[in-house]
Amino acid sequence: MGFQWAEVDATLPIILDCEESFRSAKIKKYDAHRVIMYGKGTVAKPYQLSPSSLGQFIECPSCYLSKELKLFKKPSSPFPQLPNGIDDTMRKVMKALEAAGIMPIEFSAIPELAGFGLADRALVGPTLRLQPADHIVLTGSEFTLTGKLDELFIKNGSGGAPDEYIIADYKTKRSMNHASKPPHEAYVRQMRCYAMILRSLGLIVNDAALLLNYYPSESAIKDEVHPYLEFLVDKVDVSPSACTPVQQNLELMVKAVLQATASGSPPPKKADCAWCNYRA
Ligand code: SF4
Repeated sequence: MGFQWAEVDATLPIILDCEESFRSAKIKKYDAHRVIMYGKGTVAKPYQLSPSSLGQFIECPSCYLSKELKLFKKPSSPFPQLPNGIDDTMRKVMKALEAAGIMPIEFSAIPELAGFGLADRALVGPTLRLQPADHIVLTGSEFTLTGKLDELFIKNGSGGAPDEYIIADYKTKRSMNHASKPPHEAYVRQMRCYAMILRSLGLIVNDAALLLNYYPSESAIKDEVHPYLEFLVDKVDVSPSACTPVQQNLELMVKAVLQATASGSPPPKKADCAWCNYRA
């Protein structure tokens, strides 16, 4: 990841090194973190961080905080709606199948899911979050991490053993030409965030999460007699040690948010961003 401690070292005052870029911006004064964070910063209503906001912060702390401070917003591209629609459809279908106690062949055909079934929908869809014992607490404010799982599988424990869970996420891909590429780091981070949240809820989480990649093509239909969609699986290491860097980056993000809101200024911009250089 291209993110370094020094970029948001909270022990140092932030130096606004792209001041020229902001010369025409109206820099507002903020005296409360709640201006840019959801929640109230209390144990009961902690400020909320999400896997996607963490990703934006890691991509460029300056861009993320400039947007949140309403100094400027980098132009964004239209959000692709088709993958979201497919995810929604999958969730609806799986909700009905879970209610009927059915494990669809699409998933029972995946070796990693042998012995697993669809987990209770109370854990899939609703927003989940870290428990208070795992909140990040700084300068008297509490921060949590939230997430909404796409899919979750459960293997019921036998003989008094606890249940075990496997986290999964649906990904719609463009073509098989890119199937051999490793998962994007944003997807890896997303799975690790979910694992941290489920462990905080006291659940036993398998060290491997699954990205269920769907490639829309005729070859994705398997078995002429009993057709089913084939998902190609990427495994992501979500073991506690693999999640440690995510925890560290969350703590950095909290420090940077507090520092930026206190000063009204974002941390330094990236040196190699064409758009920021164009603006300057
Ligand atoms: S360097 Fe690029 S990504 Fe960072 S603040 Fe400037 S425009 Fe945003």
